[in-house]
Amino acid sequence: MVTVRDVPEGQAMSGWEVYDFAPDDFTYERQMGKNTTAVPLTVYCPQCSDTTAYDRRVNAVVPKWTINHSDYVFNVGYQEEDGKKFAVCLNCGHDLRDEVKGKAAPKKSTRKITRKSQERTLAATPELIEDVKFEDGYFTMTVDEFKRIAKKGHQVSHSITPAAEFGGTLYVISLSKFITFWKELEINGTRKVGIPRIYFQEA
Ligand SMILES: [Zn+2]
Repeated sequence: MVTVRDVPEGQAMSGWEVYDFAPDDFTYERQMGKNTTAVPLTVYCPQCSDTTAYDRRVNAVVPKWTINHSDYVFNVGYQEEDGKKFAVCLNCGHDLRDEVKGKAAPKKSTRKITRKSQERTLAATPELIEDVKFEDGYFTMTVDEFKRIAKKGHQVSHSITPAAEFGGTLYVISLSKFITFWKELEINGTRKVGIPRIYFQEA
């Protein structure tokens, strides 16, 4: 029996308690009138993060009033060119030294994953999820193992790719998806963290 429990975005759990994942997380919540908005604590991709919206009154694309944690793409890595390091979005391949181009309203329809950027994603070091299981469409792990990988993703200078080895195949997921799409599950009376299989790709 699998019970899925929704956890608000940008939060993690301890036991059945939900707590703020900050300050280890990439954003913190700030009050904006009656709403809260997520404020980034680290570099994010300005090209494919969903931080703008089309405003009909002014017929223009404007910054969103409130931004969710999941609107940001933090999957940024570093590349070297002539001995100089520069930041590159591992999601869309945007070179963060370049200006943001053609940021169209209102949805993420401009997101393009080029072959090159996929290779870069896979170039991140795979971090094997220990004792991973495949249950009811989810790759599942212990709560501690989930936290270990999420923390490691922030600490190491190289980008890591959480990886599940199952049935002789290696499945990988970007760190940003890993920390965005997880669910708290109860499986046969044990609390676990599960991430839907559909967010993984074969390595
Ligand atoms: Zn991007």
